[in-house]
Amino acid sequence: MSLVRALYCSACGSFGMLLLAGTALAQADITTGSIGTNSVETIPIDISAVDIDMSAVDSVDDCMVAQICIDRYLWSLYERTRKIDTIKVPEQTKVTVKRKGKTRIVTKTITKLVDEDFTWKDPKAAERAGMSPMDYVIGGMDPSFRVTLYHALRALDDVGLMPGITCVFRDDYRQTIATGLKAQSERSYHGGSFRGGYGHGLAADIVSVKGETRAERLASSDQLWTWIDTHEKELGIGRPYLDRDPPHVGPIDGEEYAAHRVKPNTQHAESKAKDHQRPRSARRSPRRAEYATC
Ligand SMILES: [Zn+2]
Repeated sequence: MSLVRALYCSACGSFGMLLLAGTALAQADITTGSIGTNSVETIPIDISAVDIDMSAVDSVDDCMVAQICIDRYLWSLYERTRKIDTIKVPEQTKVTVKRKGKTRIVTKTITKLVDEDFTWKDPKAAERAGMSPMDYVIGGMDPSFRVTLYHALRALDDVGLMPGITCVFRDDYRQTIATGLKAQSERSYHGGSFRGGYGHGLAADIVSVKGETRAERLASSDQLWTWIDTHEKELGIGRPYLDRDPPHVGPIDGEEYAAHRVKPNTQHAESKAKDHQRPRSARRSPRRAEYATC
């Protein structure tokens, strides 16, 4: 029965349809149960007991199926997203300079922006943890956060923003091979050991997959992040670091969001103040891909 319903769910892809299907099947189960026990009419109290037990089993079953559907949807969004970061690579070059009339050759370090495909990172970390990539990436998240994230991403999908997921669970090892802005390995809300590790991840990095080119997808991601900022209360997720780490989202009732958005520390307030001195165009745009931290 579970398999049939799971398949049905993956076919329709709708949580609402799943619930309807679950209810219909639950009624079918109860009817079957009643028919089966009708022959023993002398013990009516047992019939109700059977009905209660079956509905209880059924709701647990539905709940598990719903979780499978949620996980599959999150995984499909992860799979459809290209895993490319722009990383900063220092490069040394020799340049000729003139000082006091003398020509000298000096070594200068310049920072180059290089595209990096990080598709290999999660499978490698999953293998190290002895899990399938889906169990590792999606299963490492806190179960209730998975539900919140699911509904938020569905809402973003419904308004045509085409959300995608680049990063979800990261254990301490995975955090060490992450690039860009990142917390200390064990302190990451993506699932560092200090935060509870596997099954307790409370962060995801989300972008938009809308657009043919990377520039178009970045513009779509920009729209998606702005939409999250204006609808975070309804969505239940928000961006704790705003444009300092644009794709990073977490529950708005979570510790990380509270630390950076509700009760910003002095350091953050200071950087905010500096930010206000910059021209608006420099503050808002572009939100560069190199901020991604996967
Ligand atoms: Zn993140």
